Amino acid sequence: MRHLAGHERRGRRRALRHPARRAQRRERPETPIRDIVANTEIFRRVLDRNQLGGKCGRCRYKFTCGGCRAMALFASGDYMGEDPQCFFEPVDETTVCEHEAETGRVFERYALMARYAGGGI
Ligand code: SF4
Repeated sequence: MRHLAGHERRGRRRALRHPARRAQRRERPETPIRDIVANTEIFRRVLDRNQLGGKCGRCRYKFTCGGCRAMALFASGDYMGEDPQCFFEPVDETTVCEHEAETGRVFERYALMARYAGGGI
């Protein structure tokens, strides 16, 4: 058996304590996550980007971004409202952000990286 140095043993113990590792060791829940998402009103609404309100609702990027629903809830009490953190101020779905081309290039690189990393995009 290979001898492990002290820092290697500590690192291995920490990795086993990591929440993701603990979650992997637990048994699967009786109801699959996809069923919970599909049958819960709040998840159904959040996933339906046509129901977004405020500037997120009129934004051309609502299907790729959609804003943060937690911040919308925090700011207005409506989790389907607009994301108050966003700098973009769309008039309607034809308003183009000055960073659209750059974001597209970054996303292409991300998609390429995810494909080779096994992300399935
Ligand atoms: S870019 Fe801004 S306005 Fe558009 S969906 Fe995202 S958070 Fe909302």
